Amino acid sequence: MALIINELCVNCDVCAPACPNGAISQGETIYEIAPQKCTECVGHFDEPQCIEVCPVECIELDPAHPESREQLLIKYTLLTGVAQCA
Ligand code: SF4
Ligand code: SF4
Repeated sequence: MALIINELCVNCDVCAPACPNGAISQGETIYEIAPQKCTECVGHFDEPQCIEVCPVECIELDPAHPESREQLLIKYTLLTGVAQCA
């Protein structure tokens, strides 16, 4: 499942450089996550790095983009070209 940034975002820019997939960018009013690039950090880290660093806890799972761990690993492989065991 991709993650989504909610309206509590304070545009601090801490999360964008922490994302291994370059999925986070400044949006029109708050920061945004590109769902096609977000793997919940599967393949890179044990925990979503954006959630780890966000000072206001405004990043959550996006129910509009449900994905299994296997699907996230496939996405990771497509994004990086690196195969991982499930
Ligand atoms: Fe990027 Fe990981 Fe956050 Fe997804 S969960 S936006 S891949 S840092
Ligand atoms: Fe917004 Fe949190 Fe990212 Fe800062 S770290 S830009 S508050 S989502």
